[in-house]
Amino acid sequence: MQQYREIKARHQNAILFFRMGDFYEMFYDDAETASRVLGLTLTSRNNGGASEVPLAGVPVKAVNEYLRRLVSQGFRVAICEQVEDPKLAKGIVRREVVETITPGAAFADDLLDGARNNYLCALHVASAEVVGVAAADLSTGELRLAVAAPGDAKAVLARLAPSELLVSRGAPAHGLDLVAYREENALVTEREAWEFDPVLAADELTRQYGVASLEGFGIGAADAPAVGAAGALLRYLRELQPSGVPHLARPMVERPGQVMPLDDMTRRNLELVESLRGGDRSGTLLDVLDRTMTPMGARLLRQWILMPLTRREAIVARLDAVDALARDALARAALRSALDGVRDVERLASKAAAGRATPREVGALGDSLARMPAVEEAMRRVGRAGVIAELLARWDPCAELAADIADTLVERPPVAIGDEETVREGVDAELDELRALQKGGKDAIARIQATERERTGIPSLKVGYNKVFGYFISVTNANRHLVPEHYQRRQTLAGEERYVTTELKEYEEKVLGAAERIEARERELFEALRERAGAQIARLQRASAIVARLDVLAALAEVAEREGYVRPEVHDGFGLEIVGGRHPVVERMMPREKFIPNDLALGEEARMIILTGPNMAGKSTILRQIGLIVLMAQMGSFVPAASARVGIVDRVFTRVGASDNLVRGQSTFMVEMSETSAILHTATSRSLVLLDEIGRGTSTYDGVSIAWSVSEHLHDRTGCKAVFATHYHELTQLADELVACRNYNVAVREVGDQVLFLHKLAPGGADRSYGIEVGRLAGLPEGVLGRAREVLRLLENGHLVEPAAARGRGAEGGASRDASRDAGRGARAAEEPSQLGLFAAGADPLVERLREVDPNSLTPLQALQLLAELTEEAKRR
Ligand code: ATP
Repeated sequence: MQQYREIKARHQNAILFFRMGDFYEMFYDDAETASRVLGLTLTSRNNGGASEVPLAGVPVKAVNEYLRRLVSQGFRVAICEQVEDPKLAKGIVRREVVETITPGAAFADDLLDGARNNYLCALHVASAEVVGVAAADLSTGELRLAVAAPGDAKAVLARLAPSELLVSRGAPAHGLDLVAYREENALVTEREAWEFDPVLAADELTRQYGVASLEGFGIGAADAPAVGAAGALLRYLRELQPSGVPHLARPMVERPGQVMPLDDMTRRNLELVESLRGGDRSGTLLDVLDRTMTPMGARLLRQWILMPLTRREAIVARLDAVDALARDALARAALRSALDGVRDVERLASKAAAGRATPREVGALGDSLARMPAVEEAMRRVGRAGVIAELLARWDPCAELAADIADTLVERPPVAIGDEETVREGVDAELDELRALQKGGKDAIARIQATERERTGIPSLKVGYNKVFGYFISVTNANRHLVPEHYQRRQTLAGEERYVTTELKEYEEKVLGAAERIEARERELFEALRERAGAQIARLQRASAIVARLDVLAALAEVAEREGYVRPEVHDGFGLEIVGGRHPVVERMMPREKFIPNDLALGEEARMIILTGPNMAGKSTILRQIGLIVLMAQMGSFVPAASARVGIVDRVFTRVGASDNLVRGQSTFMVEMSETSAILHTATSRSLVLLDEIGRGTSTYDGVSIAWSVSEHLHDRTGCKAVFATHYHELTQLADELVACRNYNVAVREVGDQVLFLHKLAPGGADRSYGIEVGRLAGLPEGVLGRAREVLRLLENGHLVEPAAARGRGAEGGASRDASRDAGRGARAAEEPSQLGLFAAGADPLVERLREVDPNSLTPLQALQLLAELTEEAKRR
């Protein structure tokens, strides 16, 4: 316990797995936490002291599953091993923490999802203007640095979705809401402020990469905040992995202007990689586009979706490649089938470098490399279109390593060295000799059975083997009397006796001794191979990056072909024209011909669209479809449309529907306003703003007023492209007021008393919402619907609503009280200036009077008199 306490004192913030023989034991609070989280039995143990110590343990064999559960719930686990052989130890076995596993620093396959990166991020808020982010994925060896304004840093973090975030203790947050990360299950770890110092950090980085300066990586003074974050990150990793920080590929630096920062709400609202409901992958753009064949490809596709490009040349280079692959179906098929057997080279290489890859995994790495020539051949068939030329120029099949692995390992190496062969014959003379010896011994033993049968005349005599007694000769009880003198009895069973002979034992020694030496030699040879593979990690990472890109390009070409997408024309102008656009996800949920394509154009003269239309007409669908088409085009994908011309946008913003965040102390409306405010502050004239129903969470007056002025602001000040879907039909008047604002509606047809949804976009505003009709579709009781129609008619005509109870309906009990109270509320609403009548001309008596006046027939005196009356009337109000 003294040893335990000393070690625990150094790992206060982790659950300590303390190795004791075949178990990892936990004590005190750790035991209590683990038993709660893992459902373990909590016992106690008296360690000689006065009090009982709470205790819980997990078997070493099953440790991975327990680790997975703890780490996925945001715990850190320090693994304390016995670091000397208990047989040789004098006194207490020496123990040390060999690694600490945290959500951001996890290696094992069962802790990771193959299709997405697992980032450990560090955040350095250098000032109110600039924030540095460093992100490492230990399983792939990727290190990313980014410098951004605090608002954009949020978008960077939202994209990376770190499972652990390092922040400086006590640093001002400058609007970065760290609570949000805690909520999303990321572990927020505080580190000392000095660890983020860019100068110290630069030392840390140069040491890690063994370089004299960071300039070679293209890292300059402006990147200092990100370097600071990377330094803290490396220092933390060194603490977690005392045996050394795993190899990291050269850092990739992201600077503002290269990629589009996608904020959290846009990423969610457009359901790019996670669905709004449940947060899983189904029903997302990723789900539709992901036809990748390799895990690296799947991860990269996710990154591409979350990082659309903003430079035309870069987008066109991707589109050219996708185009070439889309046109050449045969080359594409060849490429995809070559990629099919390529395993997660990136993660396998990291594991090899960390000395953790099993023989089977090194074998899988070899098998993957063996497919490289086929990948290359297919790539050459496609030609040098767009980025493919660049990929070909950097192509490296790692052929020597492929040959090395293929020559060294057997075809299907086992998970662990031992029972089955790992290393091929002919690789090592010593191993071959040992194997011959073992085989000779086994043959000799087999021969013993024949000779002994003959010698003793016992035909059923057998030579057998078990782990406790080794080789033995077994004789059934019926033949016991025939057993020769020199047989030594070892074991008596119900129907037989087991014996050994000196000869048998001699061979046994040879066989078993050889087996032990074979295992040791195989281990040596395998570990040397793994080390050779690990040493090639930088090349393997580069090769895997190329494979990942090819995989994504081929996947995009494949979807384009299957789903009937077209190549968008991307340009640096302002306009956006989509002909026959479709929603890539919604169209997949219904028979192809049922989805109605729509055209849409936004340009300098018509840059804002007010989109009205009944509930369920398809406004949100069109709105999202515009956003998705633009993002797809800018990530280099073909788009679901008959044709599309896309002026590159610097950001896409969406604000959709109602959501609240009560935990963070924000009501639905507050969330709506914060999100709108963020858009108004950040959008530029090159942005695309998609608003679905703003101003809905408050009273109609306030809502319409806010929606109105937000639209004016976007139109007059921001000057961006904007589409605003709304049920406030009053807003259609904006089109008269703002030069570049147009009305569109999603058409419906009334058939009898029912509404037919046409899902077709048409010029002009809508004047009805048909909300009651949708209520009918949703199954509201007939009585409620009838009454709603009545109330609507009355309100529309500016009449008071008569309480339902007063008209003898619902005369009994609570129902009647409720009905009258609600109806009373309706009546008050009508007494107050009518909500519906706010903008409706004719509702005001003054206006009504004016309308009736014919100025031509008035005498000057009458006109003056009328004017006096009207001003008098106006003043009285
Ligand atoms: P609300 O105002 O009630 O929010 P909305 O006008 O935003 O409604 P959506 O949510 O976009 O309507 O669409 C409702 C449903 O109509 C969708 O779930 C989809 O099934 C269908 N739909 C929308 N657009 C189309 C289309 N172009 N073709 C076929 N079906 C469509």
